[in-house]
Amino acid sequence: MASGEVVSSWIVTFTTEIRGGNDDAMRYVLSGYWVGLVLGRLILVHATSYIGPKLALTIYGSITIGFLAMIQSVNNVAVNAVATALVGFFQAPLTPMIILLSSKWVPASLVSPAISILTAFGLVGSALGPLCIGKDPSRSPTIEVLIWRRLPHCRKRSCNSSSCFLVDIGRIPVARQQSRFSFGAAFLIAANEGSQSLANNQGSRLAPPSSLPQMFMQLDPNSRRPAWYHSYSTTYSLFCETSRVNFREPYWYKIPVWKDVTEKEFLDYSWQVANTVQGKYNLAKYLHAVLPEHIPYDEDAPETLRHIQTRDMFVQDVLGGISLAPMSIRITPHVMSVIDWTKPLSDPIRRQFIPLRSSFIEDHPRLQLDSLNETGSSPTPGLVHRYHEKALFLAVSVCPVYCRFCTRSYSVGGQTEEVSKKNIFPPTRRRWEPMFKYIEETPQLSDIVVSGGDGYYIPPEHLTSITERLLAIPHIRRIRIASKGLAVCPSRILTSGDEWTQAIIKASAAARQMGKSVALHTHFNHPAEMTWITRLATQKLYEEGVTVRNQTVMLRGVNDNVTTMKTLIRMLADNNIMPYYVYQGDMVSGVEELRTPLSTILEIERHIRGSIAGFATPNFVIDLPGGGGKRLAVSYDTYDRSTGVSTYVVPGRNGGKDQVYEHHDPLQHSKSLQ
Ligand code: SF4
Repeated sequence: MASGEVVSSWIVTFTTEIRGGNDDAMRYVLSGYWVGLVLGRLILVHATSYIGPKLALTIYGSITIGFLAMIQSVNNVAVNAVATALVGFFQAPLTPMIILLSSKWVPASLVSPAISILTAFGLVGSALGPLCIGKDPSRSPTIEVLIWRRLPHCRKRSCNSSSCFLVDIGRIPVARQQSRFSFGAAFLIAANEGSQSLANNQGSRLAPPSSLPQMFMQLDPNSRRPAWYHSYSTTYSLFCETSRVNFREPYWYKIPVWKDVTEKEFLDYSWQVANTVQGKYNLAKYLHAVLPEHIPYDEDAPETLRHIQTRDMFVQDVLGGISLAPMSIRITPHVMSVIDWTKPLSDPIRRQFIPLRSSFIEDHPRLQLDSLNETGSSPTPGLVHRYHEKALFLAVSVCPVYCRFCTRSYSVGGQTEEVSKKNIFPPTRRRWEPMFKYIEETPQLSDIVVSGGDGYYIPPEHLTSITERLLAIPHIRRIRIASKGLAVCPSRILTSGDEWTQAIIKASAAARQMGKSVALHTHFNHPAEMTWITRLATQKLYEEGVTVRNQTVMLRGVNDNVTTMKTLIRMLADNNIMPYYVYQGDMVSGVEELRTPLSTILEIERHIRGSIAGFATPNFVIDLPGGGGKRLAVSYDTYDRSTGVSTYVVPGRNGGKDQVYEHHDPLQHSKSLQ
């Protein structure tokens, strides 16, 4: 929509500054261009209706680009003036055609609002485009600041063009449609961003005033795609992401069985619980309903999964995976809805909750179910006391979802074919009593983590009695309630009158009055887990004064790259969730395919530290196998990358000797380096 303003603005600069034309030359060129625009709209109407809008778009677009290239390459003001008039002539019908074609991509009910949106974007583009593209951004940084820095949740501000589709852009069909609407304006604005990215990648700045054709045609050195593709895809991705987090997208609609579920129902916690998918037979039934008959080709799928080409093959592979898995199946509707079912082989959320038999790899011989030796550090069953001042109070053994990589797979969740769960922790006052007694009698303790299982599944009245009892102990200063609930079922926080939510808000307020603290520790692993419901839920907790911190686990194929991790951290910080820890995945049996070598967390920290505000940068830690406790991952004493063995020296407790703990990278990774 803003293309007329953009080209006219650019041609003024080009004629005077690059071709050395005087004011008169500039006026003639500009007038010729606008006359061409007017004539093009009048004369090409018949030609367009004869050849059809799609072909016309291609032909006129190609001719326009050809004349722009001619202006760029022929150093003659007169020739440039004629070519500029012809650019106007062929460019003129493009805008109406884009509107016409866009209107066919969306449901009829959305056409009118869509055209309004497109027009609105066009007007914005008309105002901003000439400023952005007609001037050298290196000389007017404030313009860029105004446009890009003010867009909410714009995570592409310093993007690497090799990773345009960092967060899956196809998750929300409606968002996809909205993005297409904004093609015209987004393309032009994005072109500016694209040229900047390219310039940054090349270590120099391109010169937009003299390189409009170049800006469109130049290849991105990383992706080998034209710059315009990168520019548009960056903007496209941005629109989708912001849609999911900022607009009330009914993101569950794409699940056929939930296409008629209303927003009110989806937001209701009892609906979430009633529709949680549990057990392998329920999951198989659900997969049959949600998957396409033929699994679409997925360029991101690991080689080992490429043979899975049909729905039946996928379901069989899942059932085979479940029979080997240490964790049972439980998945909330929220999680089911943020999985991209058109890419089930590589989807990062699917990988965390649904196993595939074909992706299993050999366990390292040092893996264990209780890899942190929690049982060995428990003075009384259900209470882990490893650190001097801190203890872990295991209140329950159940969760709203079961994560495949759970550290506590020795006790959490239902029995599986592979693991018979012992040491389960029923939520009873009788079982908790000796745990309370130990805490009361151990004055060195000041910090208690109430976990499980998941704090979401501690009944509200028990949550209240646990926090009251702990707050009443004089030496207890801090309580953390560990729950993945906010990440996997955020609607509970918004459910009117939900007693669990009330309990944590009250506990937090009571602790504050006593000069103590009760905080919620949650567990997001990927940006796609956040939606507008998450944003509203975190905002509610923030307004109620509840401190929320996040602990992420580094997982292969989920978040083991800089861009995803950086995006996640920014989204957490933007939602007032403190990014507290990023953990190296524990050495737990049965999920070797999800573990990453130590080198990955070191590399990711190297890139992230310094690029995000210090207080929003998490600690990248390793929980040492065997009970050595948490250490900064980078604080290893030795690390042999070829064998994958690293060692950490932990100072002796209570004056004891220093102890050495070993961590082992996945065997497959070490073998690949030998
Ligand atoms: S929510 Fe926490 S405790 Fe429950 S399965 Fe996941 S990681 Fe384990």
